[in-house]
Amino acid sequence: MSVVTQDILDIVQNQQRWRRQGCINLIASENVQSSAVQQIEDNDFMCRYAEGHPNTPEADQRYYEGTRFIDELEALATREMIDLARCQQADIRPISGNQANTAVALALLRGGDTVLCNSIDVGGHISHNPIGVFGRRIQIRGQVLALQKENSINMAFWPTTPDGYHLDGPACVDLVEQKKPQLVILGKSMFLFPEPVNQVAEVCRAHGIPVLYDAAHVLGLILGGQFQHPFAEGAHLITASTHKTFPGPQRGVILGNMNTPEELKWWSSVDRGVMPGSSSNHHLHTIPGLAMTIREMMVHGKNYAADIIRNAQALGTAIDTAGVPVEAKEFGFTKSHQIAINVSSFGSGKEIARRLAESNIISNYNMLPGDQDPRNPTGLRIGVQEMTRCGMGPEQMGELAELMTAVIVKQKSVINEVVKLRSGFSEVLYC
Ligand SMILES: *Cc1c(COP(=O)(O)O)cnc(C)c1O
Repeated sequence: MSVVTQDILDIVQNQQRWRRQGCINLIASENVQSSAVQQIEDNDFMCRYAEGHPNTPEADQRYYEGTRFIDELEALATREMIDLARCQQADIRPISGNQANTAVALALLRGGDTVLCNSIDVGGHISHNPIGVFGRRIQIRGQVLALQKENSINMAFWPTTPDGYHLDGPACVDLVEQKKPQLVILGKSMFLFPEPVNQVAEVCRAHGIPVLYDAAHVLGLILGGQFQHPFAEGAHLITASTHKTFPGPQRGVILGNMNTPEELKWWSSVDRGVMPGSSSNHHLHTIPGLAMTIREMMVHGKNYAADIIRNAQALGTAIDTAGVPVEAKEFGFTKSHQIAINVSSFGSGKEIARRLAESNIISNYNMLPGDQDPRNPTGLRIGVQEMTRCGMGPEQMGELAELMTAVIVKQKSVINEVVKLRSGFSEVLYC
């Protein structure tokens, strides 16, 4: 008798129906894949191992036999990622953005080193913080402790301008001069505006300090040519997720623009940071989908990225006009896929996010600059990349703003209106 799994299938069906048909998803780190990518994920590679690099006629670089086709595919995806990103190196093996960061941290940092990065309260990612992979600390009963004292990394955080949404370029340069860190990291998770990569990279290059740009959120905008290109401004390394504004399978990637002998040494350390440092097998079955998404972005990336940013600005304008303050108004709200809404006049960030979710509008609460308590933030972070990929435009952003303000200000339920609005946008586009 076969195993009974109907209850499991039901859960998956429920998720599928709810999140794909009923919900307007505004979580800034998520996206949907094209149907071609989704279909190809069911393949034999999900059963296989292929540690190492693709075998070539010149070199046997795998630890297993049977890798003929993953060799071909991984070489193709790596080559095309390099073309799309206009860079020198790409490692497509990390299975997430955090794992890409882990590989870089293992490669470039030794105990006692210093890292400069964005703090959480101005949008930094957990991996950039004392208890993340770059800090190598652990929190026990509320206390942040070194795993082993001699192994911990010292962290200092970038100074911002008074609005809290931009880094203060000259002050960042001073901090580099003062700390002489072993690694600097630009990029973050609440990410509205470009970073001063030019200025920071110039001083870092003068001191031989590697510059990492964490593009987890904005990779799709960069590769679509609609956000600063960190390599054009002097960064050495980019880490990213491949499933946020880059609309592919859930994986990570490390890109390099390394030329000098010293830089090439950094890259070979990163290579070992990926394998064996932070992974053995690299979840081969999502690599075909990654390769397909690279092709989709080659053709549609520019339009997709431009439409995302236009929608984010339209939504920011509409929500602010309707009476719920959107942050960074004096800077046009955003230059990315995200906006930040200040809900402090209407409730806590948590309460408002929950209330929106009860109407099938899915987002997350988030600290805004100046918030003191990470467990009680005053903001919402909103991303429009997924709804843009499903075909929504500025007109729908206006409708969405009305529905959101009805929930936030008037405490109304708009679930029926949300389901109706969503039902016109069931196809995944830009592919
Ligand atoms: C999301 C994110 C990551 C981690 O990516 P995962 O793919 O979720 O592991 C790393 N850095 C930043 C800035 C992020 O926002």
